[in-house]
Amino acid sequence: MNEIADAKHFRNFSELSRHQHRGRDFEITIRRKPGSPIAIVAPHGGGIEDGTSQIARAIAGHDFNLYLFEGIRSSSNYHALHLTSHRFDEPECLSLIKHCPFVITIHGCGGADDCVFLGGLDQELKLHLTQALKRAHLPAQTEGHRFPAINPLNICNRGASNKGVQLEITHALRRDFGAVRLAATLRHTLLSLPIVKAKPAVTQHQYAGT
Ligand SMILES: [Zn+2]
Repeated sequence: MNEIADAKHFRNFSELSRHQHRGRDFEITIRRKPGSPIAIVAPHGGGIEDGTSQIARAIAGHDFNLYLFEGIRSSSNYHALHLTSHRFDEPECLSLIKHCPFVITIHGCGGADDCVFLGGLDQELKLHLTQALKRAHLPAQTEGHRFPAINPLNICNRGASNKGVQLEITHALRRDFGAVRLAATLRHTLLSLPIVKAKPAVTQHQYAGT
């Protein structure tokens, strides 16, 4: 198993794809929702960071754009496929989010206690989501943690507004009912954003082509 190239050495998606192959090692799922200004992105889904695909799907429902990069190997998904967020430049993901002013990425981190660590350059949306999580009695932290996601190249910050929100969800919170409640709270909060309730910020024709 030592022959598996460690994804932490890859500088971009192109390097990763020289070692790992779509349909064998990973799968990409895109669900476009023309007219929605929001994209929910799980760049380490499937077996890479357990539970993040399911949470991203549950948040997006049929209302928001969805992107999943999922590890489907039988083992070593993290080792082989975890392309760090500021190097995650998978072209189909970039193509989807460039029209979305609100990009929310879903990640999983270690931790035996329930917590969401919020990062990213969109301070306003980050605050809004944090307040909603706290109202739902879901522990949330925006500062003093290891996941600030302030690198402009972090995939959460590469949407139409060049700022987004990154959620790192502890292992404890990705299990069972906690994950369901978390996804429902985030989904409800995003559906209630004034820009979502008002007329769409993005028109259909901007999505022409793939
Ligand atoms: Zn991650």
